[in-house]
Amino acid sequence: MNIQSAINKGSKILQNNNISSFRLDSEIILSKVLNKERSYIFLNLNKVLSNDDLNRFNDLIKERQTGKPIAYIFGKKEFWKFEFDVDKNVLIPRPDTELIVEVILELTKNKTSLKLLDIGIGSGCIILSILREKKGFYGVGIDMSKKCLKISKVNSNKLNLTNRVRFFKSDVDNFNYGKYDLIVSNPPYINKFSYDCLEKGILDFEPKIALYGGIDGLSEIRKVVNKSSELLKKNGKLVLEIAYDQREKVKKILNDKKFYINKILKDYAKNDRCIVSTKM
Ligand code: GLN
Repeated sequence: MNIQSAINKGSKILQNNNISSFRLDSEIILSKVLNKERSYIFLNLNKVLSNDDLNRFNDLIKERQTGKPIAYIFGKKEFWKFEFDVDKNVLIPRPDTELIVEVILELTKNKTSLKLLDIGIGSGCIILSILREKKGFYGVGIDMSKKCLKISKVNSNKLNLTNRVRFFKSDVDNFNYGKYDLIVSNPPYINKFSYDCLEKGILDFEPKIALYGGIDGLSEIRKVVNKSSELLKKNGKLVLEIAYDQREKVKKILNDKKFYINKILKDYAKNDRCIVSTKM
């Protein structure tokens, strides 16, 4: 079978299984099997596949057909300028979360040496991307999941950051180590109703603990704000990822803890996504 026919076949199977990105995914899977860029595929549509490659392709299409995200199938996800290891224990880094990295780099562009804390690191994508960009910064990352810490340590190794970051297994309430110039968090913030309506690929495969924020979606955000008011230095910044409809409620939670709201940023879909505040 040639490349063109394999892509068509894989894409049809995925489409029949309600995978909306069926064609793209079929192409990505084949390019990974062949260990080539996607462009190679378009330039070699008539090339005949070896039996081994075809079998591997068919197996991976079967895996994707169940709804399993591509990132979990290959154990990798691009985020910011880097490639992160991921597995089923960590949330797959989202392009929208790159906004958080961007805003922190902008906020700290004139700083050379800062101490950062990331609450709920997951794969480590946020704090590790920032540390890679800012050579004089030090970071601490916490997560209550030991399995997440394992992955974030792999990622810090891959990015040569082990001497500038420390990880602790802790939930937010019980963490009391250090004082920070900046705290960042992408906490679980999805409310009960929205969680139940998530698309199947997320609901069936991504960790609930990284997504679900209690009935109103705000229970972890409240904890992060409380803890940040203790651990931030005066004038330190808190940068939070929030859901599209949480702006006013999170502003109130922050104001109640005497944070000044600096700005609220929108994501690619023009929804509120990130709130920057300062501890007074
Ligand atoms: N943005 C993620 C999603 O929509 C949610 C991330 C989170 O809860 N922190 O799937």
